[in-house]
Amino acid sequence: MSQQRPFVVGVTGGIGSGKTTVCREFQKLGAPMVDTDQVAREVVAPGTPGLAAVVDAFGPEVLMADGQLDRRRVRQLVFATPDLRLRLEAILHPLIRQATDAQVAAAGYPYCLVCIPLLVERGGGNRVDRVLVIDCPPEVQTARVMVRDELTAPEVAAIMRSQASREDRLAAAHDVLENSGDIATLRPQIAALHARYLQLADEVTR
Ligand code: ATP
Repeated sequence: MSQQRPFVVGVTGGIGSGKTTVCREFQKLGAPMVDTDQVAREVVAPGTPGLAAVVDAFGPEVLMADGQLDRRRVRQLVFATPDLRLRLEAILHPLIRQATDAQVAAAGYPYCLVCIPLLVERGGGNRVDRVLVIDCPPEVQTARVMVRDELTAPEVAAIMRSQASREDRLAAAHDVLENSGDIATLRPQIAALHARYLQLADEVTR
């Protein structure tokens, strides 16, 4: 008997908008979540074909003494040589996609959240059944990221400029959670969306 693929809700939002925080609230209600940032680390863990392919392309200088990928070194290399970025993405993107699909399929729940920070930037909307945007005014994002990552306001602003605009992200959304206040104030909306996603999942499998 073939197993039904869960209904996939792509969760996106700018840096520090609260994607992880909101997903955690859905998880408390029982929903599974696949974090593509985490998957991106797993596919280049020591001993994986992904890490072997990256070392083949970039040389052993991208390995740290303990055999882990030196992400900082890789970032420096791709920053200096744009062609290398394409090469790295050609290696990693199919692996990340495959591993994400496998984790979604194994979730064993009617719907699955997939946290994709750059969903809008990468045009990933066609890989998900629905898009949930975590929205936040830029000044709140900036304040939270400055505390969390110990960055300056200009450093956060530079990251935000490299990401999709708030307008473009909102235009891609089926659902929006505005996360500028206390997370407790969002819980009723999260519970309502959880019920809605279960209902939508039920409708598509009927
Ligand atoms: P990134 O994409 O940068 O990893 P993210 O969108 O997953 O970020 P979080 O890590 O969930 O964002 O939140 C960013 C920071 O803001 C964290 O330190 C988190 O604890 C805090 N935060 C998120 N939502 C709220 C909230 N509603 N109230 C107070 N702090 C919050």
